[in-house]
Amino acid sequence: VSPPKELAEICKVSTSADDLANYGKDWSMNYAANPSAIVFPETIEEVQKLVLWARKTKTSLVPSGGRTGLSGAATATSKEVVVSFEKMNKILGFEPVDRTLTVQAGVVTEAVHKYAEELGQFFPVDFAAKGSSQIGGNVATNVGGVRVLRYGSMRSWVSGLTVVTGAGDILKLNKDLVKNATGYDLKNLFVGSEGTLGLVVEVDLKLTTAPKNTTVLVLGMESLGSAPSIFKTFRNKLNLSACEFFSEIALKKVLALHNLSRPFESETPFYLLLEVEHQADDISESLFPVFEECCEAGWVSDGVISQSATQAQSLWNLREFISESLSPESPYKNDISVKVSQVAAFSRELESTFKKDYSNFQVVLFGHIGDGNVHVNILKPNAMEKSEFIAICHEADKTLFAIVEKYEGAVSAEHGVGLLKKEALHFSRSAPEIELMKTIKRAFDPDGILNPGKVFDA
Ligand SMILES: Cc1cc2nc3c(=O)[nH]c(=O)nc-3n(C[C@H](O)[C@H](O)[C@H](O)COP(=O)(O)OP(=O)(O)OC[C@H]3O[C@@H](n4cnc5c(N)ncnc54)[C@H](O)[C@@H]3O)c2cc1C
Repeated sequence: VSPPKELAEICKVSTSADDLANYGKDWSMNYAANPSAIVFPETIEEVQKLVLWARKTKTSLVPSGGRTGLSGAATATSKEVVVSFEKMNKILGFEPVDRTLTVQAGVVTEAVHKYAEELGQFFPVDFAAKGSSQIGGNVATNVGGVRVLRYGSMRSWVSGLTVVTGAGDILKLNKDLVKNATGYDLKNLFVGSEGTLGLVVEVDLKLTTAPKNTTVLVLGMESLGSAPSIFKTFRNKLNLSACEFFSEIALKKVLALHNLSRPFESETPFYLLLEVEHQADDISESLFPVFEECCEAGWVSDGVISQSATQAQSLWNLREFISESLSPESPYKNDISVKVSQVAAFSRELESTFKKDYSNFQVVLFGHIGDGNVHVNILKPNAMEKSEFIAICHEADKTLFAIVEKYEGAVSAEHGVGLLKKEALHFSRSAPEIELMKTIKRAFDPDGILNPGKVFDA
């Protein structure tokens, strides 16, 4: 199929079957890709022309980054035109006094990590998909990751944004200012907007100083309910930069596919991975008493403390390889959060739900427990049809989300709403809130051309 002539005059367009299949979906894999074309703009002006063309022709656009999103937000299921940012992949410059790195939206996250390191700086937003995901996608999802506890999510590191709204206006938001008390914060409205308000074309990122030393611990726990107490004990005495957890089932899945060793010999139902930042080269003296306190309280049954950077990385791999190790088994994913203080009670209720609703399934739990964030992955039994499996999981979601609502949590902690959680949005956001979001969407995207049907139906 040849693309519309007017579109081809704006920028490179592809309608090849491979590209339609590839660029039409994200990592969620739950939705069939069905875009009409993929466009590859290279400049802000081309992006603006695309939006104006889409308005004129009433065509829907799906912004697309590295397509590592897990909520279907970057999928095109209804003949939309996918706007890929992969050709807008330039690092535009570093301003050392402001410590600001300005990049185009299509720069891959890991390229920012490497560039920052070459500058003797540090970009702390870190997660397992950083090798493919793009900065524009990270902004649009307000990506979290493994160091939110210490450094916050993407929002904390974005000091300016250039966007093209659904109306076709080019806006420069916040302009890299540290202080700006001039009315509503439109920049932050775009962070986490999942491509529904505008297309992010350039981003000002803040950099910081890399930690001097880090030590990683993996601790064995009999119950997830111990995690908040261990977290509190370490957080109050040391400079904690990450607090992650995973279950024994998750560990087994990683060990089956990767050449890694168990953290220690004994098996425990859950493991907590802690990362501590420190100035001194050796912190055993301050670390051991805290570890012992947790053992004496009965929260920890075994543990290991990294003795080298290589060992620390191997311990991190046990956690970071989980998503990838599960993906051959088509997991049904939930990404929920509650306040950390509620995790113990919440996890007790979760456990009884799993026993009741998912008794035939393998349930794999892991996540960023120091942020109150639990990833619940249900694995499809081989013999079960995918449609039957998804229908059962959807039904069970109602019980799960009712518990999330009871604890005033979020049905999506960091993966976003997209298509996957849109029906569940009301468990976490009130009807007036959802109406306000729709009003905001209409203000930025009057014709509803940007990522329609994602987050909510306008
Ligand atoms: C193995 C694995 C581990 C992960 N771990 C984490 C984790 O720890 N924490 C976490 O938060 N997420 C995690 N994710 C999810 C995902 O990596 C993040 O959501 C990431 O920010 C998505 O970036 P992307 O470039 O791939 O975006 P995409 O998937 O391409 O798109 C995501 C959303 O952003 C929009 N978008 C993309 N580019 C633009 C743009 N330029 N302008 C406007 N809108 C745009 C899309 O329309 C869509 O709504 C993980 C994913 C995988 C596969």
